[in-house]
Amino acid sequence: MPWSIFNRPSIQLATLKSYLNTQDRLHADSFHPYLHIAKLIGLDLYREIAHRGWAGEALFAPLLFAEKYDDSKSLFHESLQSTLAKANKDHDFDLLVAKLDEFCKNWLLTTDLASYDLVGISVCFSQLLPSLYLARLIRKRHPYLPIVFGGSSCSSELGNSLVQQFKEVDFVVNGEGESVLSALCQFLAGESKELPKNIYSKNNFNDQRITRQQSHPLKLNDLPRPDFGDYFNEMRLLFPQQLFIPVLPLEFSRGCWWNKCSFCNLNIQWPNYRFKSGEKMARETLALSSAYESLHFTFTDNALPPKEADYFFKEIKSKKIDFDFFAEIRAVTEPHRLELYRQAGLSTVQVGIEAFSTSLLQKMEKGTSAIENMAVMKMCSQYGILMEGNVIVEFPTTSEEEISETIQNLDFVLPYAPLESATFFLGFGSPIYNQYHNFSITSILPHSKNRKLFPPRYLSSLTMLLNSYRGDRKQQQKRWKPVRDKIKRWKQFHTQRTSREHPLSYRDGKTFLIIRQELNSGPPLQHRLRGLSRKIYLACQTVTELSLLCDSFPQVKKEALEKFIADMCEKRLMFQEQERVLSLAIPARNNN
Ligand code: SF4
Repeated sequence: MPWSIFNRPSIQLATLKSYLNTQDRLHADSFHPYLHIAKLIGLDLYREIAHRGWAGEALFAPLLFAEKYDDSKSLFHESLQSTLAKANKDHDFDLLVAKLDEFCKNWLLTTDLASYDLVGISVCFSQLLPSLYLARLIRKRHPYLPIVFGGSSCSSELGNSLVQQFKEVDFVVNGEGESVLSALCQFLAGESKELPKNIYSKNNFNDQRITRQQSHPLKLNDLPRPDFGDYFNEMRLLFPQQLFIPVLPLEFSRGCWWNKCSFCNLNIQWPNYRFKSGEKMARETLALSSAYESLHFTFTDNALPPKEADYFFKEIKSKKIDFDFFAEIRAVTEPHRLELYRQAGLSTVQVGIEAFSTSLLQKMEKGTSAIENMAVMKMCSQYGILMEGNVIVEFPTTSEEEISETIQNLDFVLPYAPLESATFFLGFGSPIYNQYHNFSITSILPHSKNRKLFPPRYLSSLTMLLNSYRGDRKQQQKRWKPVRDKIKRWKQFHTQRTSREHPLSYRDGKTFLIIRQELNSGPPLQHRLRGLSRKIYLACQTVTELSLLCDSFPQVKKEALEKFIADMCEKRLMFQEQERVLSLAIPARNNN
């Protein structure tokens, strides 16, 4: 259902379909109503709504809960406000709701669901209300057709509360769906009396005679290649003039090899971290590329598995194909890795930066430090990889000292691609959620935006709506205001600058070094480092221990070395954190 990104087929459906079709006497087809809706309302408007999750949910809320019409309408306009102002246009909420309603009803009339024995709906970001509405219509038209939900919005207790609250939802899969769906089909066909443990069902299915079977996590290497055929067929039919190039999702791993960040709930549906071998991933990518004539891929992984990714990118590089990849990586990445990945086609990464204060990073359990974050930003600049990422603002328990440290450290990352401010979000099931008292949170409440979408009877019973809180929020909003402002100035610096050169780069004259530095105002500065100064600067291209630097330059007294580094830090040409240092300028030759 909407609001999936329209130029991306669903990896969930493609993976489940190909798995189920390998099982005895099972046949699965997949449908992508979001493609039809993108065509119906236009690609630009669809993209805008999909980018603002609340707006998409708001369009379906009145179809389920008539009494929430006015609230949803105001949430829709509030969510699209900045875009509306920019584009100087208004979107007619009433008309859009009517169009979506008509589409869903027509889609059901023209889709032969009667020939199926089970309908499943994959529910991730901003798909809850659209999915519930479609389920309601299906139930009306096909009263005896069982409906199962699954996906990241249905994990754990979230799924259980959903199945108990909505009569249209008969089952919810908690976690990965392959073997669970297969077992559910056997159960519904009367071939088995067992339901898997990780499926939630209505009370009438919770019969004592039904035994629960434990399903074992699948080995990802055993999975068949995802089948995106249905998406491409629908796309060709709807957009014969090929208005966009699909980006194919790739799944290298499930879960996260780190799995510790205190704010993160991305892994509640993956209790066991698993990954495909680099060799399988490379084979799969090449096969998908040739089957769908695609070169653009996006990894769905929370963080790429480092060793297998090395093999994968090495193999892909050797094929000399013009691939383009997006991936999420952790900030602890060695330079040789990023260089190789870039050469193989990794053009954009999302890095879990989150903060520029090491003590804040410790509270977040990121396992990284401010200097490591700067190092990965520098490497991405150096290898021409576009880096996306966030600074989490208004993190509960942030101290004044952590704010000052963040503000100071933002000066050092000015030359690198700016990040977004992302307001702290209390994710259900995250370590902070589970120990909220330790984070100055006094109580957990339904999100104010959910109050606009759902009638009061659902607010306390649907666990997934409980993601707001009372605590030190007001104090944090005030504390973080200067950080937000500084991030805005960081972005302005990058949008307003006109030079094609990197804002902080050096040219090496072998006996001297010229560093060119752009600052927030004034003409670029030129710094000259000669002899030993040049050598020391170049010796700190990656994060370097001070003791190691002393060993490498025995002719320089420790005090003199420290003075040189302090001077470089004062000029924002180097960064020092405790006993570790990093030179910030990148070689100019890579960026001309
Ligand atoms: S935030 Fe990213 S790195 Fe941290 S636990 Fe979650 S998925 Fe893993």
